[in-house]
Amino acid sequence: MPYYEMIMIFDRPARLAAAVAIVIGVAVVVIVAGYNPSVAVIAMLAGALAMWLASRRDTPLDEPVALLSEPDSNTEALLNALGDPALHLRDGRVAHANQPALTLLGQHIIGNDARLAIRHPAAADLLAASNQSGVVEVTGLGQRQQVWEVHVAPLAPNERIVQLIDRTARYAAERARVDFVANASHELRTPLSTILGFIETLGDEKAGGEAVTRNRFLGVMQGEAKRMQGLIDDLISLSRIESEKYEVPTTKVDLGGLISGIAGGFLNDDGRKRDEIKVNIAAGLPPVPGDREQLSQLIHNLIENAVKYGGGGAIDVSLALLPDGQLDFSVADHGEGIAPEHIPRLTERFYRVDPGRSRAGGGTGLGLSIVKHIVERHKGRLSISSELGFGTKVSVTIAPVRDAVT
Ligand code: ADP
Repeated sequence: MPYYEMIMIFDRPARLAAAVAIVIGVAVVVIVAGYNPSVAVIAMLAGALAMWLASRRDTPLDEPVALLSEPDSNTEALLNALGDPALHLRDGRVAHANQPALTLLGQHIIGNDARLAIRHPAAADLLAASNQSGVVEVTGLGQRQQVWEVHVAPLAPNERIVQLIDRTARYAAERARVDFVANASHELRTPLSTILGFIETLGDEKAGGEAVTRNRFLGVMQGEAKRMQGLIDDLISLSRIESEKYEVPTTKVDLGGLISGIAGGFLNDDGRKRDEIKVNIAAGLPPVPGDREQLSQLIHNLIENAVKYGGGGAIDVSLALLPDGQLDFSVADHGEGIAPEHIPRLTERFYRVDPGRSRAGGGTGLGLSIVKHIVERHKGRLSISSELGFGTKVSVTIAPVRDAVT
């Protein structure tokens, strides 16, 4: 309807003012011309039509309007080069969007009001004003937990570029840091409370006076103190490994020799060498560029886990050369295995499948996290495969010293 569209070109305040003027004008005509039923009906209809038009919303937000012109190729190339989801706005509407933006927000956004393309109350004000620039943070676009930074920057009069930067990983890292401090404090507080409780009990003349009871309590206190010590040692290791994260290790390490030595050092409860650890090192392997102390810790942690969770069965430790020239170190046990849902989380700090069992075995919940950081520093690859009831295999792949590759 062309007349309707012509009127709707004017914004709502202008239409309202025009409607009031029409109503007053017609009322004046009716009064001046004297009361006449047909003039009165025409006046009422004109007034009603004017008020109806005035009450109409501006072009509905969710109705895409034809764009005045296609985006120029420079703007299009700029959006495509950004990599992050990005939009080109003209007069507050989406004139163009790159592929990541269309995937995230939907194909329908072209021509829509920007507030409907990025439906979030926090971004609405920034997107509404056609010349405003700034940054806001929104959650829930795409997946529920995703956190985005919405950057709005001017491009030309009434034209803006909107870039959405995914900050989910940064927030998860911050969250992990906060959780880490809370978890570490909790892990230290529990044995400390036990020790304090026993000190108090030993202070009691009756309990502390009996040699048998006293020795039993001292034994528990020693166990708890060792647990705290183990935890503090692991925390120090973790922070040292993290602080050296970007220093590429260069010392040539004979991984095979290191593995044999450490595996041979694992003893049975009766102090004899464990004969159920089977070591298989391929002959003539090249050295790896590494940090000897950290690689020892990695080997120790993996064999220790196999001993702790392997259910007393045989443990296979091996080092082999892969077809692509990498060295593959693996530790396999025949214990009860790990359910698939836990596997992706095992390298998180303090993550344990069974916290009670881990603590009873002297575990700190940091062993695999330390392994992961050491592997990362050595530019290696860590993989964990497990089957419930059959056992677990942890493998670490590291490239040998370059000039040693045959
Ligand atoms: P912990 O000090 O508890 O052993 P880790 O970081 O070394 O900490 O391991 C995290 C968790 O992964 C353990 O608590 C255990 O539940 C599980 N886990 C690690 N290695 C094995 C394994 N070989 N078999 C079964 N479960 C394992």
